[in-house]
Amino acid sequence: MTSKETIQKADRVIAATYSRFPVVFTEGKGCTLKDAEGHSYKDFVAGIAVCNLGHAHEGIAKAVSDQMSRLVHVSNLYYTEPQTELAERLVENSFADRVFFCNSGAEANEAAIKLARKCLKDRGFPQRFRIITMEGSFHGRTMATLTATGQAKIKKGFDPLLDGFDIVPFNDLKAVREAITPNTCAVMLEPIQGEGGVQCPASGYLEGLRDLCDKEGLLLMFDEVQTGMGRTGKLFAYEHFGLTPDIMTLAKAIANGLPMGAMLAKEEVARAFTPGSHASTFGGTPLVATAALSVMKALLDEGVVEHCQEMGQYFRSKLLGLKSKHSVIRDVRGEGLLIGLDLACNGSDIVNGCMERGFLINCTQEHILRFIPPLIVEKEDIDGLVECLDILFQNSE
Ligand SMILES: *Cc1c(COP(=O)(O)O)cnc(C)c1O
Repeated sequence: MTSKETIQKADRVIAATYSRFPVVFTEGKGCTLKDAEGHSYKDFVAGIAVCNLGHAHEGIAKAVSDQMSRLVHVSNLYYTEPQTELAERLVENSFADRVFFCNSGAEANEAAIKLARKCLKDRGFPQRFRIITMEGSFHGRTMATLTATGQAKIKKGFDPLLDGFDIVPFNDLKAVREAITPNTCAVMLEPIQGEGGVQCPASGYLEGLRDLCDKEGLLLMFDEVQTGMGRTGKLFAYEHFGLTPDIMTLAKAIANGLPMGAMLAKEEVARAFTPGSHASTFGGTPLVATAALSVMKALLDEGVVEHCQEMGQYFRSKLLGLKSKHSVIRDVRGEGLLIGLDLACNGSDIVNGCMERGFLINCTQEHILRFIPPLIVEKEDIDGLVECLDILFQNSE
């Protein structure tokens, strides 16, 4: 099929929930994607921070294909080795003591919301069920997670929403303090907002939230669906701030593109989940857990997290160079390879211009270019994109 034929057919038979670029990708390797006509693109989107080890990673392909021939799925009525090994690796390398596996970020957050409510009930506070979340946040598209999300455009047309969420401005500790009521059980936020436009926490903000939650007996829950798995130059973003949450959610990059989510918690909190509290048919299958084990191995044993740190620094210094040349760039921000370029104009022409020149980039909130390449990206790839951006900003002046 030509790209044109695929696009025409897709627009006829696939639910129209996405506005897509008119390109059909057929294969990839590392940071490079190829479309149906054989054109190459350098991928600075990585499936939206999913393919952290790049496309068609050989180690994962081999491990998954071996596992595929051995055992794909049994029910969580039984134990399996890959799920057990993966949980142990996550626990050994995080604040958490226990892991619940599911299939997506929204599901991981649903699990976190349920656990928070149950935990406070078990602690003897049955009236505490409300969760404070942030403006500009993104937590998913299920009814509970879209209610938790602090963006009006995502909720439009779906009310009545669920009860139990109070949304306050991001980076405003006082607003959180004032929103706490005798019904509050938790505060949930992304340590760095991704979809919200790579919004970083103000200095002292997360530390202040940790103290506040401790003082008020609330749970602090980090949605690390986008920031986790090495993306910010640490395995988890909370490590940048010298504190730990009580609950953390992961998904996106955890299995490099196979669907998996995870909810991690400290023992005292995790024990609110008992047999029958929660479940997922596909959660943590041997197949997907095997992929995630390969991801952990690459991130921790093969130096990918350190590489991300180094490339992130290099990338940001290059973008700061662009900022000093082009007044349309208002801000360069982010950690590791979660980088935002805040523009004084709409970013869609730049995104389209990059695509014509063989670079995939993303734009959130209409004016913030977001760069979330595979963590294995190299300097030459970054140089190529920065040169392309330089030309596009030049032409748009
Ligand atoms: C992508 C994302 C989600 C939703 O993940 P899905 O797998 O699409 O359900 C939730 N939280 C954050 C921070 C995300 O970036």
